Amino acid sequence: MSDSPSRPVRTRFAPSPTGSLHIGGLRTALFNWLFARHYNGAFILRIEDTDQKRFDPSALDTLMEALRWAGLQWDEGPEVGGAYGPYVQSERVALYQQWANWLVENDKAYRCYCSSERLQQVNKDKEARKEPPGYDRHCRDLTPEQRAAYEAQGITPVIRFRMPLDGQTIVQDAIRGESVFDNANQQDAVLLKSDGFPTYHLAVVVDDHFMQISHVMRAIEWFPSFPLHVQLWQAFGWEMPIHAHLPVMLNPNGKGKMSKRNPPKDKYGNIIPVMVHDYMRAGYLPEAMVNFLANIGWNFGDEREFFMMDEAIQRFDLTRINPANSAFPVEKLDWLNGEHIRALPADELARRLRTVLVNAGFTVDDDLLRRVTPLVQIRLKTLNEIVSLAGFFFRDEFLPAPPEELIQEKMDAEKTCRALERAYEALSTLDDFSHAAQEAVLRPLTDELGLKPKQLFGTLRVAVTGQRVATPLFETNEILGKNVVLERIKMASQTLVCQP
Ligand code: GLU
Repeated sequence: MSDSPSRPVRTRFAPSPTGSLHIGGLRTALFNWLFARHYNGAFILRIEDTDQKRFDPSALDTLMEALRWAGLQWDEGPEVGGAYGPYVQSERVALYQQWANWLVENDKAYRCYCSSERLQQVNKDKEARKEPPGYDRHCRDLTPEQRAAYEAQGITPVIRFRMPLDGQTIVQDAIRGESVFDNANQQDAVLLKSDGFPTYHLAVVVDDHFMQISHVMRAIEWFPSFPLHVQLWQAFGWEMPIHAHLPVMLNPNGKGKMSKRNPPKDKYGNIIPVMVHDYMRAGYLPEAMVNFLANIGWNFGDEREFFMMDEAIQRFDLTRINPANSAFPVEKLDWLNGEHIRALPADELARRLRTVLVNAGFTVDDDLLRRVTPLVQIRLKTLNEIVSLAGFFFRDEFLPAPPEELIQEKMDAEKTCRALERAYEALSTLDDFSHAAQEAVLRPLTDELGLKPKQLFGTLRVAVTGQRVATPLFETNEILGKNVVLERIKMASQTLVCQP
């Protein structure tokens, strides 16, 4: 693909809203968005809802929510409008009918009156003869009398494309280069159904033309239909956009497509979600999700895997899209998410953590959250982990751990009691309760008690936070304050029934 496109860049994401957005769909949207942004073009959202049996109206809201979450705001489309609307295909049906009829009038398509029973029978017969299935072109060359007879029976026809019977169709893909298809192997595809709705093939060509789409990046699944689309573009005599068919995102083991019905599992047997909403709920950052998806099938160059979308926009073009299908590198996602958490300004991270905590039922004191945020920023892999790691800060009432958790490896109740007692004494002496001051009195205790830091501080962590894994001890204590810390150490001694 040349560096400077010959027409204004307009890309589109054209989902069929049949449920929440699949991460593969999000990646397709992302590539189209990045490309449009790179060339200061327009990114269009078009809703392909003409398969009425499958349309779920609430799915449109879910879909738009997912795109907005990911930061892929569209310049034209539902809710924002634009000069080429409407952007919902079911509102454009008259246009498809007009152009389907134009094709018939110009002898590039024809009306087909065959019933579905007949079509089934044709396929059965073909199967019996070991021929590939497909329409036998029964209505392709009807005489005016035959047509009139069908019309008189009140049959509503479909409109089929008149595919050339011989010759070849040459298709150009910006990632895959040129391919040649024999027309003899192609079908006379239905363009307009008997309910008056278009099929994907007609609608995609008409819309991409009238919406002046310059570049189509879509899933490789559509590649087999590409010759039909090329023929349609030629039949209409319209300038065709540049097409690029994106590689499939495979399961982490490299086998099969990522599918909702048969979701992949990680090495621990946990299901790997395939819907964007699952990642939203699980506390992934949109910045990490788009970074992760941008790495599947495209690469930033310089072997860089961690980057911001502004940087990706600078670099994005089609030359670094790999035509080969690529596996979903699930292990990279948590790593990238952690990196993006660390890259956020602390107040922005606090704002996002607040939402997670509130959703988990905590009442959040913002000043406290502002102090806790730096302690978790260095450790979180997902936003949701704040609840298990530091939820104790925000609980109305302290939840002590069961006494046995106070006793660390290679310790017993007696040693633990002694540790709690000496830590209590040491901390009581402090006027300055900063983490440095605490460390200065607690570290020497490890020698005195013959304990490893892990043992002493592990006991204290369980005593003070009620959990084994939490934020760093001295900093945590500093935030909780001397009174609370001493009170909890005393409580731990009591639960262990330590002798005074
Ligand atoms: N509605 C089609 C889909 O969801 C769109 C394909 C395209 O981008 O043209 O797969």
